[in-house]
Amino acid sequence: MPGDRSRLRSPSGAPVASFTLHGIPVSRGIAIGRAHKLAPAALDVQHYLVAEELLEAEVRRLQEALAQVHVELQTLWNELPKDAPTELGAFIDVHALILSDPMISEEPLDIIRTRHYNAEWALLTQIDELSAQFDEIEDPYLRERKADIQQVAERVLKVLLGTAQTLPASSGEDEFQAQMIIVAHDISPADMLQFRDRSFIGFVTDVGGQNSHTAIVARSLDIPAAVGMAGASTLIEQDDWLIIDGDAGVVIANPSSLVLEQYRERQAVAARARKKLNKLKKTPAITKDGTEITLLANIELPDDCAAAMEAGANGVGLFRSEFLFMGRDSRIPSEDEQFEQYKRAVVAMKGRPVTIRTLDIGADKPLDQSEQTALNPALGLRAIRYCLAEPQIFLTQLRAILRASAFGKVRILIPMLAHAFEIDQSLAMVEQAKAALRERGEKFDEDVDVGAMIEIPAAALALPMFVKRMDFLSIGTNDLIQYTLAIDRVDYEVAHLYNPLHPAVLQLISMTIAAGHKAGIDVAVCGEMAGDIKLTRLLLGMGLREFSMHPAQLLSVKQEILNSDLARIMPQTRKIMRSMEPNVIADAVEQLQLM
Ligand code: PEP
Ligand code: MG
Repeated sequence: MPGDRSRLRSPSGAPVASFTLHGIPVSRGIAIGRAHKLAPAALDVQHYLVAEELLEAEVRRLQEALAQVHVELQTLWNELPKDAPTELGAFIDVHALILSDPMISEEPLDIIRTRHYNAEWALLTQIDELSAQFDEIEDPYLRERKADIQQVAERVLKVLLGTAQTLPASSGEDEFQAQMIIVAHDISPADMLQFRDRSFIGFVTDVGGQNSHTAIVARSLDIPAAVGMAGASTLIEQDDWLIIDGDAGVVIANPSSLVLEQYRERQAVAARARKKLNKLKKTPAITKDGTEITLLANIELPDDCAAAMEAGANGVGLFRSEFLFMGRDSRIPSEDEQFEQYKRAVVAMKGRPVTIRTLDIGADKPLDQSEQTALNPALGLRAIRYCLAEPQIFLTQLRAILRASAFGKVRILIPMLAHAFEIDQSLAMVEQAKAALRERGEKFDEDVDVGAMIEIPAAALALPMFVKRMDFLSIGTNDLIQYTLAIDRVDYEVAHLYNPLHPAVLQLISMTIAAGHKAGIDVAVCGEMAGDIKLTRLLLGMGLREFSMHPAQLLSVKQEILNSDLARIMPQTRKIMRSMEPNVIADAVEQLQLM
């Protein structure tokens, strides 16, 4: 246990120095556990525990990959052109020697058998250890051989990845895994999803911003996380004890017993507060003056509906369907596969509406990491732009969503719309998908609502174009802020400029809410602002009546709503909306919370 000082020592027995890192808080709570470092190459590989009965098969998988690389190296050697420099043959020999060395050909097999790591993870663990040993070597030539080992490992990994199986669910209860905190340079949203079995209790990354999709997934896992911790993956050592203070964005490595005690106490206080919140599950979200507010859940996969129901959500306000498409080597799920998933979500929500957003692929959510070639992906062929450029993919998805509408209330939400022709084309394609289903005799809701995400400033400034064509609006504040302030939401170097309270952002949100209500259509906020209790009253004051957030935040927001009085909030909000002074706005928002 971390409280045991004897564990706060290096393998040599020397006490380990404690240090603190500051980053960006992205997911609340405190986690106390041991560091598990992901090497950059590991970002592409899965990490999971292998069941006892499958261990020998996993060992064989690695042995076969090693054998295949042997053959590859042999072929390379045999096919060396006659005029190739002699060093080339020597390099291949060195690689073949490394491959045959027991440190590579046997140690990782032991790791699979003893620690139950999957083949890729076992190999990387061994490579990490070898690399660390090489770093200690004085002789610069020998030290450089580390690169050779890594190249060989890359080769084996590539073979393994080509045959990689889908991630089996880990029990999450394994003692060895139970207290691990992932430390990485970066984690892609797809990789993060692989950790949702909760075998890991926290995340720390060198890069990332408050509203990068990775941060959003961390929040949806309800796991403490801190990103933008420059240098974390180099300063933190494998197996270091760590405390993540997710509220402050602080990581303490190798803490003293005293500090640990304080954080344990804070964990206990938080657990008590959570217990109190849980009592609000069935309470309707009504303000003190009697205004009812709709609280919806953001989900990434149908399984998240359980958490949404558990938190007492009135429905799903944002189903980020692209997560069904990610991590599949660019293989697009078929109409039937998609239909099954959408239907699962609809059935799980037991009659509550499920808002399915059509594929929002691109930017920091590529279908396949290797496909990311655009110079500026956030401004590129993303979301609806991609769907209109790939009509077959879009139509397939629309048919699948429509078919799910036969099983409960479904709404279709289109992301990243900016142009009238995009709206018109999208609606035409919904009609085309309906026609195809009618022809097949499939059931669906003929009156399915189609809504637009308002997440590009151009959309917020051209609302009549939207309200006239769409059944509802949902404000994607994450992207609205990104595009209004011209800051990449995943670039930690500009993360300090990401400000939801910038007057321009507030004006755009307020205008959208007002225009929707004037036209008599529903308006929700489904970006991260909706789940931030510091902003609940401001949004209520702007007239927002539908909030969509990840289920973990729902009860805190509900508590805030129950304690809010619109009659007091509205005048203060009007004052905020009249101001263009950041300090005035920030102070007034703080005061709102005290009302
Ligand atoms: C948003 O942009 O606010 C949003 C909800 O969509 P995403 O975060 O998936 O881009
Ligand atoms: Mg968005």
